Amino acid sequence: MSDCIFCKIVRGEIPSKKVYEDEDIFAFHDINPIAPVHFMIVPKVHVASLYDAGPDHQAVLGKILAKAGELARGQGLADGFRTIINTGRIGHQEVYHLHVHILGGPEPLGSMLKRK
Ligand code: AMP
Ligand code: ZN
Repeated sequence: MSDCIFCKIVRGEIPSKKVYEDEDIFAFHDINPIAPVHFMIVPKVHVASLYDAGPDHQAVLGKILAKAGELARGQGLADGFRTIINTGRIGHQEVYHLHVHILGGPEPLGSMLKRK
């Protein structure tokens, strides 16, 4: 996808603070962090959202989750972290290239969602 912002980051056309890269996945710090440590892991292949993912993406999605702990460890998150995938309008997804947020820091992050 030529005009997708995360595809551009993967291709190096937009600068990012890279955490990790291999042939299948790319990880970089969120430009507007909502926790002391906040980075994202994305597949290099363009997949709009988890809703759009299918059997073709099984390996790369598994790779992202299998790599999350190691990358979190590298960012000092030995005491735990939160993993978030926002999907679609209801999930408040802003960038339509599937990404896994990794959030953490020295203090607990609080409950998952605020009760109404
Ligand atoms: P989401 O709501 O899950 O789609 O979140 C998209 C995330 O991408 C937000 O947390 C943004 O701060 C982040 N973001 C948007 N543009 C960039 C960028 N150029 N570099 C790094 N993070 C970005
Ligand atoms: Zn993309």
